[in-house]
Amino acid sequence: KKITIAIDGFSSTGKSTIAKKLAQALNYVYVDSGAMYRAVTYFAIQKGIISNGEVSIEDLIKALPEIQISFKYNEDLGFSETYLNGENVTKAIRTMDISRNVSRIAEVSEVRQKLVEQQQEMGKEKGVVMDGRDIGTVVFPDAEMKLFMTATPAIRAKRRYKELIDRGEEVQYEDVLESEQRRDLIDSTREDSPLKRAADAIEFDNTDMGIEEQFERILAFAKR
Ligand code: C5P
Repeated sequence: KKITIAIDGFSSTGKSTIAKKLAQALNYVYVDSGAMYRAVTYFAIQKGIISNGEVSIEDLIKALPEIQISFKYNEDLGFSETYLNGENVTKAIRTMDISRNVSRIAEVSEVRQKLVEQQQEMGKEKGVVMDGRDIGTVVFPDAEMKLFMTATPAIRAKRRYKELIDRGEEVQYEDVLESEQRRDLIDSTREDSPLKRAADAIEFDNTDMGIEEQFERILAFAKR
């Protein structure tokens, strides 16, 4: 019987790696909710709604109906690509510029409302693995399986740094660490913070554990 799997946690805790592998092994659909917040951020930067880190909330809310986000599975790549109003933004939403600004966009409740609605629609049929910050709490509070991933800030920044370097971005480790910590702070300290561990979520700390090892344990759990 197919279930809904919600995976939450800070960035670079291995959420998306685990989620993708689970979806592959179980033949489920994987949805990266962070990519949606990133796509809105990309849109806002393109339209000048956000500049120098300042968001014009009013303009953003007005523009929301113009924002159409979708995912399309790419057979060759083996994963879904992200589209914004028909444009493939998969790579464009992974830059440091987006990472630096995304929390400011994600804290606008109208943005969250719109994206959560779409996420719930995508999860109407069982057999979905979704990762993010509020999946087990807000998007799918009834998910049959909830995971909460953690790892120390230093190890997470190291992973993100390696990812960016591998992608050919010129970044400094210190900048990545700083941006990550700032994002964590905004993501977790707001009163209506999206990042909360659901009471019924299982916590996985993978600071010292390889993703492979952890994945095997989680897969066994999902199959029970
Ligand atoms: O997962 P990822 O690091 O790509 O997410 C980017 C940002 O999007 C997060 O830092 C957070 O501000 C926001 N986000 C959110 N709720 C989610 C997923 C992501 O607020 N469910």
